[in-house]
Formats: sequence, structure tokens, C-alpha cells
Amino acid sequence: MPRASQFVESRAAITTGAGDLLLQQVRVAPPGPDEVRIRVVAAGVCHTDHASLSWGRTMVLGHEGAGIIDAVGPGVTGLAIGQPVCLNWAIPCGACPQCARGNEHICDRTHGRWPERFGTSAAHAGSTLWGDQAIDRSFHLGVFSDFTIVRKEAVSPLPAGMGLGEAALLGCAVMTGVGSALNVAQVRPGETVAVVGCGGVGLNVIQGARIAGASRIIAMDLRSEPLERARHFGATDGILVQSDDPAFADQIGKVRALTDDYGVDVAFEATGSARLSFLPLHLVRNGGRAIQVSGSHGAVTAHMPDFMWDKSYSTALYGGCCPTRDFPRLFTMMAENKLHVSDQITHHYGLESAGQAISDMLSGVSGKGVIWLTGDDHVSHA
Ligand SMILES: [Zn+2]
Ligand SMILES: [Zn+2]
Repeated sequence: MPRASQFVESRAAITTGAGDLLLQQVRVAPPGPDEVRIRVVAAGVCHTDHASLSWGRTMVLGHEGAGIIDAVGPGVTGLAIGQPVCLNWAIPCGACPQCARGNEHICDRTHGRWPERFGTSAAHAGSTLWGDQAIDRSFHLGVFSDFTIVRKEAVSPLPAGMGLGEAALLGCAVMTGVGSALNVAQVRPGETVAVVGCGGVGLNVIQGARIAGASRIIAMDLRSEPLERARHFGATDGILVQSDDPAFADQIGKVRALTDDYGVDVAFEATGSARLSFLPLHLVRNGGRAIQVSGSHGAVTAHMPDFMWDKSYSTALYGGCCPTRDFPRLFTMMAENKLHVSDQITHHYGLESAGQAISDMLSGVSGKGVIWLTGDDHVSHA
């Protein structure tokens, strides 16, 4: 076992931002003040990992992970070596105007506003070295790596007995999806819900809506396998979307038919496709809430009547995650068997297969893939 004062060698899946994915050796520094070094055990694969290959930045991939604390830096309290943890990418500073408003998920430090005032949510410069080059980590986490080094606010200790594969998924897909239903939309018992896209995040929106007591949850996807999975997680109805329906007339018509020609109370767009951004507005009743989950990029045209009447629209990031509030809630919902996580995992990989894991996700072969980093902790993986 390395000493806390030493750099550690680590395999890492890296991109230079030109669409490439390289398996490389990096060195990870001892933690500085308010930092924690983690031996990563499991990392989930998310569509954002694919997108990040083309962001033009050299960095360690992966932002959904769990592992064991390997070393703690000065000033870190309440965390100890050997503790199992999951990681979040909100990493709130607790001091900026957004954190003061309770909007930890859009913390000004994490989002890079006023670095001269609030600093950065990244670990110290030079904490990850690729040869002699200091490189970044995706979302300041970079969990496709045997070791990572993170700010202490990225770390949530796990309850005893939780599997680290499940814990990894909590860090992005589960938090984003469940939080979009419970924190952002605040779905109420008896409300009707539609979810466009039943991938890793969409399934968790569906699950959040079920936990909230929605009376009808209409799932939509281009393929039938995700719709089957959606029913398992709580969807009451499934619409197999026609890809050649540019006006979405089929989806809109079917949702109306299922809701007495009324539209749903809340509709979510969980694909990240810009083309679908305003579809939720067409699915909700007057006064309904339309939510685009975690952003999409690209130009789309809106027509003001789309918003009529009294419809609200939001682009909600990370399910409104406040880590100190929400991760304990997720743990409790798992313990009460309301929140199902282990059965979201359909595929297991080693780090050397990170590229395969991403292509299986893109092709729809996998539901949710997990990359296992180290040897001794994944006895549960098939
Ligand atoms: Zn993600
Ligand atoms: Zn902040």
C-alpha cells in the first residue's frame, strides 16, 4: 500500500479531446489541503463520457464513481482512510452566492465563475501527471482511473454493505434522474408524467416519479428494450417512437389519448438531443411543467404559443443535487427498497475495455455499463 505522502501510479483512460480514448499510465499526487485521494473501484458509463471525448481538453475520463479513501489531506474532517465513498460532481464550495441560495448544483466555484474569489473545484494543479504534463479530470473527478484526487466536498461516505457498483451510479445517472423528479419537478402524488428517452437518466426520472406517487408514467423511446426496462422501473405506459416523425405528432397524439386529451402534468426530455428540447412543452397541459434534463446543445426554434398557457420550462442540472441532503436520501430509499439501482447495471467491463463500454452504450447493447478498476472489491460482479 502506498504511503499517503507518495505519488501513486495509476492506469487511466484519457482523451486529448480530439475524439480519442487512450489507456495510459498517470501519477496521482498525495492530497493537498481539503483534498482526498480515492482508490476507485467502480465507474459508471454515461453519455457525457462519449461527448467529453470531443471537448478539446486533455483529461482523465469518467464522472460517476465510487471507491475507497486512500489518503486524506490537511483540514479534512469526518473522512478516514479505508472508508467507502461515492463521488458527486456538484462539489459545492458552500460560500458562493448560489450555494448561499441552496443551489449547490450550480455552485459558482464549480462552474468557474469568479475563480479569483471562489477558487476552483479541481484538486490542486499538478495533482495528476501524464508524463510531465499536468492534466485535468472530467468534472474534477476523472474516475476511469485506479486512483483519483478530489476536493473533499465531492465525497459522500456510504452506509455499510452498499455495493460499490451501485454506489457509482448514484453519482450521476441516479442523482440526475431521481432528483429531476423529486427536487426539480417536485412531482406530487397522483400527477401524470411523460419521460422522453429511457436511457440511464430517463429510467431514473421514471423511478423518481414512481417514488413520488405519480399515477401514470408514460415512457417514450426509439427502441423497445429501453421501454421494457422502463416498465420494470415504474412506467405504466410505453410509446415506441417513430424516428421519421419530425413534428412529433404521433407522440403528442398518444400522450393526449392516454390523458383524456389533456396532456400530462409534468414532461421530461432525457435524451440531450437538441431537436427534442421543446417536445415536453407539447406534452404538458396548460400550467404544466416541462423539464429538459441536464442540458442539450444546438439551435432550436421555439414558438411562443408552445409555452401557452402558463407552462414552465427549465433546463435542470444534476437533479438539483445538494450532496449533503440528497445522497443520504438516496441511501435511505435504497435501504427501504424503493430505489432500485443494482438492476440498472446490465454490463461489466475492465478499464482496458472502456472504449467498448462507451460503444455498447451508444449502440444500445447495454443499459448501464460499469467499469471495474481494481481486483479485490468486485466479487459481486458477474
Ligand atoms: Zn453523467
Ligand atoms: Zn458554491
